[in-house]
Amino acid sequence: MNKTRTLLLTFAILAVAILLISFYDIFNDKGWRIAIFIAYGILALPLIGMVVTSRRTSLSAKPVAISTVERRFRCPSCQGTFQLSIPTDQTAFHHVCPHCGHQGTITIPSKK
Ligand SMILES: [Zn+2]
Repeated sequence: MNKTRTLLLTFAILAVAILLISFYDIFNDKGWRIAIFIAYGILALPLIGMVVTSRRTSLSAKPVAISTVERRFRCPSCQGTFQLSIPTDQTAFHHVCPHCGHQGTITIPSKK
């Protein structure tokens, strides 16, 4: 059993215990409501923290080394030139002309 599961199980047991205490309080009118509310709050905080931490971990982007090359292109529509940095492993990609908005696909001829 890993650490996270053990921790979650502990929290689940605590939550059930507090729930039972709150029921006991309702039926016996012990006036423990404030204490029970605080207990729920204390119980909820680490759970919220765990959810936030796990989301952050899953969302963290991994840096990927991409080698790019600067290349100059001439637009077939307006003849304007523009520079693009393109990944070296890519041979065809979509582009939009910054001058006239012409869209097309550029195919890089392989150097072989
Ligand atoms: Zn253009």
